[in-house]
Amino acid sequence: MSRSVDKDGFPAYVTAWENRIGAFLELREPELWPAAGLPFAVKDNIAVKGFGLTCASKLLESFRATYTATAVKRLQSAGAVVIGKTNMDEFGMGSSTDNSALKRTNNPWDDSRVAGGSSGGSAAAVAAGLVPFALGSDTGGSVRQPAAFCGVVGLKPTYGAVSRYGLVAYASSLETIGVLADSVGRARDVFRIIQGPDPMDQTTAAARLVHGAWHPVAGNKKVLAVLDPVSLVQAIRAVVRGAALVSKTRRDDNDLYEVGEGGVQEDAQLINLLEEEVLAGFSKAVDAYRDLGYEIREVTIPSLAYSVPVYYTIATAEASANLARFDGIRYGKRPEWAENPEDLIDKTRAMGFGSEVKLRILLGTFVLRSGFQDRYYLRAQQLRKQITREFYALFSGKDGPQALLMPVFPTRAFGRAVGDKGGAGKNRGAGGPALSSFAQKAADLFTCPANLAGLPALTFPASVEGGLPVGVQLLGAPFSEELICSIAAEYE
Ligand code: GLN
Repeated sequence: MSRSVDKDGFPAYVTAWENRIGAFLELREPELWPAAGLPFAVKDNIAVKGFGLTCASKLLESFRATYTATAVKRLQSAGAVVIGKTNMDEFGMGSSTDNSALKRTNNPWDDSRVAGGSSGGSAAAVAAGLVPFALGSDTGGSVRQPAAFCGVVGLKPTYGAVSRYGLVAYASSLETIGVLADSVGRARDVFRIIQGPDPMDQTTAAARLVHGAWHPVAGNKKVLAVLDPVSLVQAIRAVVRGAALVSKTRRDDNDLYEVGEGGVQEDAQLINLLEEEVLAGFSKAVDAYRDLGYEIREVTIPSLAYSVPVYYTIATAEASANLARFDGIRYGKRPEWAENPEDLIDKTRAMGFGSEVKLRILLGTFVLRSGFQDRYYLRAQQLRKQITREFYALFSGKDGPQALLMPVFPTRAFGRAVGDKGGAGKNRGAGGPALSSFAQKAADLFTCPANLAGLPALTFPASVEGGLPVGVQLLGAPFSEELICSIAAEYE
């Protein structure tokens, strides 16, 4: 649904209705119209004064925000009203919202399945029609993946396009505040309101300079890129192999791959992680764009295969630094009694953080350990540069492509494991097979590249397969939100 405006800048639907019903003697502030009076929800890691700001963590269970995030403030000035804070994976770490320490969120399409994560509450609220849009945050896919799982639109803006002031930091160099909405047009309207430089977040001022090294040459020809199937399979294999090597010793994950005498064998289940239904939805989108007159061009992003290990190295490194502030002194819960300040910090973090958060802090401090930085963190930074270069090269070719069409996640909304942490394969909840937390990480391979390269990406529903929505995403050059939204609107 594309939104046109009349000569005075009012949305076309306003003019059309007003011409028909003649309700107004005076009409003002055309730029505020798209959000005027709309209720919206905000992920609970984004500050809204007077509301809680728990990040779905025990540690911050009773913490309340003392100021309002810039993105929220801009929406409020446009007349939109915050009606609540939404559930999420603790501090944004996860893909199911099950890492919330406070609440369980279910998928509105099938309540025995997860809503995705980490912005699962925001996606579920929009999908259920409770709000027309919600804010989320996307560090490695947390807006787009739950949007795909719940059949709504999710926009992850260019890094630096939207102020992060008021967003509780997880991995600062990767994350952006994003929009979940009931239509592409709405996501774009909301993006237009929240984007733009903010003196409270210097990365917004620098954004255009940083991305300025890239020169857009997108021609007039309508071209969409898709990944060639061979490099897609290679990427999945590389992720599986890497994951298997890392977690050789993890018993929980033995169901994903066999760890035999001779080393690691890839497991068919993880290689086949890419569901047929997801491929079916993706093919429908490709066909539809071909019918719309787009040339579909197969491309290769060779370093895509490294995106997951690079993402988890950088994200956990930054998280270990960002979460150091939760020491029991400045914020949130504090133990009743402690021997000394160090003991206070220990006790606070031991009781306040969930196991996924602890795992990531440990991983982050591990990759940053003195003497080992070259081996992990610096290598990850080099590969991040490489991934970014490959994307920039893709989008700076003469005659397009204007965007890259990709799957969002290898599966549709997955189920929950029955009972305890057992093998994912054996545990079939009512809602279908669960995905182990390790497989969930490997499955971020389609979403985290946009964060590593800072590119805008838009998820929208492509089809419904077997009763569940399948989303696809369009990745574009820096600051091409308007373009990818209009391409997506053609599909709607
Ligand atoms: N699944 C990713 C992670 O767990 C997504 C996180 C995010 O975007 N906040 O890190």
